[in-house]
Formats: sequence, structure tokens, C-alpha cells
Amino acid sequence: MKTYKIAVIKGDGIGPEIVDEAIKVLDAVAQKEGFNLEYNEYLLGGSAYDVFEDPAPEETIKGCLNSDAVLFGAIGGPKWDNLPKEKRPESGLLKLRKSLGLFANIRPAIIFDELINASTLKPEVIKGVDLVVVRELTGGIYFGEPRYKDSNKAYNTMIYTRDEIERIAHIAFKEAQKRNKKVTSVDKANVLEVSELWREVVNEVAQNYPDIELEHMYVDNAAMQLIRDPKQFDVILTGNIFGDILSDEASMIVGSIGLLPSASIGGKVGLFEPIHGSAPDIAGQGIANPIATILSAAMMLDYLGEHKGAKRIKEAIKSVLKEGYRTKDLAAFDAKEVVTTSEMGSLIAEHASN
Ligand code: NAD
Repeated sequence: MKTYKIAVIKGDGIGPEIVDEAIKVLDAVAQKEGFNLEYNEYLLGGSAYDVFEDPAPEETIKGCLNSDAVLFGAIGGPKWDNLPKEKRPESGLLKLRKSLGLFANIRPAIIFDELINASTLKPEVIKGVDLVVVRELTGGIYFGEPRYKDSNKAYNTMIYTRDEIERIAHIAFKEAQKRNKKVTSVDKANVLEVSELWREVVNEVAQNYPDIELEHMYVDNAAMQLIRDPKQFDVILTGNIFGDILSDEASMIVGSIGLLPSASIGGKVGLFEPIHGSAPDIAGQGIANPIATILSAAMMLDYLGEHKGAKRIKEAIKSVLKEGYRTKDLAAFDAKEVVTTSEMGSLIAEHASN
């Protein structure tokens, strides 16, 4: 029987609650589909700082590098907000991503018909939306040097090299080949030289994918089009800062931040996590929505080649939502029964075992 080594990082706040539910569901699927998952737990973020005074201990990085995939909850919280920047939980996650070489962040935004009323947009605008944002994760303005700040002046530098653009563009075109065969590359080429190069290189990479339709869009227009007519998009390819903003915007089309998974790939080991943070305001209350993390686990199974298992999870979530079960974040919208984090996980695991 095939065994996959999974590094588990539960993290802070609601992290442990939601990851436990994802593991519950994964175990049910593994048993049904006939594979094994061997979990090894590691600390990162605030919980790692509390033990090691380091938000990304070497043991965690090594453990992740020695695994087939990383399942991640969320990190951060007010307890660690006043630490120096390099000791803060967020620095731990940035270091882990960098160490694993995770230069591509993939965030799908899929509408569940059962939750169509949870979005702030009109049902006719969002019904059938199925898009994915492919965001460059380790370059651009967040990492560019020089960077500087004094009390009168501050600056950052947006840098992309040809190699960095090429590799993320390939990921986006390959993603489109599995989907609806369209890539929208988002930049600000009317103003920024770095975007001019981005556009040139994406055009060159596109020559390798004659089956894929490519369009370019300025980021300001893309922000508007996402709300006006999100169905026009299939794969959105973009850099680090534009992708950060657009993927959060895309997430709200779906209704709750508690529904959206993500995959960070490109290196030896992929990392799978919900897009939301550690939600300290609701931690420990049993009301967090575990679906984003459970969907992240489904993306992890796809990454490992266990496509039937991944499908099983998605179908199970649909069935549970169809039956009217909702966690508190979605309870205002047509809930038949409001359930806890753990009850939601158990219901999905039960359906996934059928
Ligand atoms: P957040 O995503 O944690 O929470 C935003 C709002 O959404 C809160 O009201 C929260 O209760 C709600 N929410 C989030 N996830 C939910 C879920 N699964 N179910 C129900 N409701 C949910 O963002 P924030 O409040 O800005 O940040 C809190 C902490 O998380 C900060 O320390 C931040 O740095 C950190 N953070 C971590 C990550 C990560 O680990 N990748 C990402 C974003 C923020």
C-alpha cells in the first residue's frame, strides 16, 4: 500500500481546530481509496516562537523538506504582534515558503451552488464561477532590494527577472490546460517597466501553449472585471502584490473566507493551506469553518496523484452543504442546522467514506 509522508503544521489560533478536521477527512478517504498517510507534526509561527524563540525552527524546515507534502493551518495572533519583525509568526511562514522554493501560489475560487446566497454579489453574476489565481510568491516588491524607510522617505523595489516570470507563466499555462484553456495575465504595463518585461516574457512562454488563449489585462481593470463579470476568467496569472490583492477580492465572490483553499508549489514539496489567517477572535470556540482546510487537503491529494480521493472530498463537502449543514459563518444563509467545527468535519468524513 502506498504511504505518503505528510508534514503537519497546525499553527496558532484556529489552526489546530481546522487541521484536526482535515486529518479526520483525509483518514476516511485514505482508508476508502487504499493508501496510507503518515503524519509528522512540526511547529511554526507563534507556537514555535513560544518553544524555540524562533518562528521557523530548523527542525520544521528539515521535516517539511523530508516529506511528500505539507498540510498547514494558520499562524499569527495578537500575542506575538509586538515582537521584532524577524521573530513574528509571519516571518516564519515567509522563511518556510522560501526554504521550500514555493514560488507559485494557486488559489481556486469555486462557487458551491448551495452557498450562492452567501456572496455579496448577485446570484446571476456568480453562478458558475470557476476561476483560479496563479500568483508569483517569492519575488516582486515584497522581496526586492533596495528597500528603505526613514521618517521622511521610504521605498521598495519591484523586481522580476526573466527566469522568475517564465517559471510562473509555465505553471499558469499548464493549469489552464487542465481547465478551460484561457489565461489572463494581469500587470500594469502602461506604467511599470517591470510589467513590460512581464508581458513580453508571458507572450514568449505562450508560444509553447498554442491550445491556450492568452489575454493581458491591467490590474485596475482586472479588479473591476472580477466584480462585474467573474465568469469571464479561467486562470489569472499575476505577480506577488497584484496577486495578493486580487486573490482576496476573488475570495469574497465565494462568500466566506472560510471556504477557500490554496496550494503553494514549485519546489520539491508542496504546501497546502486555507487562505484565511488564524482568526484569533474565534479561536477555541468550535465555530471556525474547516472547509477551506479540508479543500486544501483535497488539493494536496490531487498533488500527490490521488485524484479519486480528492474528488471524494469535494463531493462529500457538496453533499453536506446540500443537506443544509452550516458552520456559524454561513449560518445566516439558509442553514437547516448550524454545526460546530468538529461536527462539520465528522459529517464530511462520514460522506467521504460512503
Ligand atoms: P483572518 O483570516 O484570521 O480573520 C479575518 C476574519 O475572518 C475574522 O473575523 C475571522 O474570525 C474570520 N475567519 C477567518 N477564518 C475563518 C474560518 N475558517 N471560519 C470562520 N471565520 C473565519 O485574518 P486577520 O484577522 O486579519 O488575521 C489574524 C491573524 O492571522 C494575524 O496574526 C495575521 O497575521 C494572521 N494571518 C495568517 C495567515 C496564514 O497563516 N497564512 C494569513 C493571513 C493572516
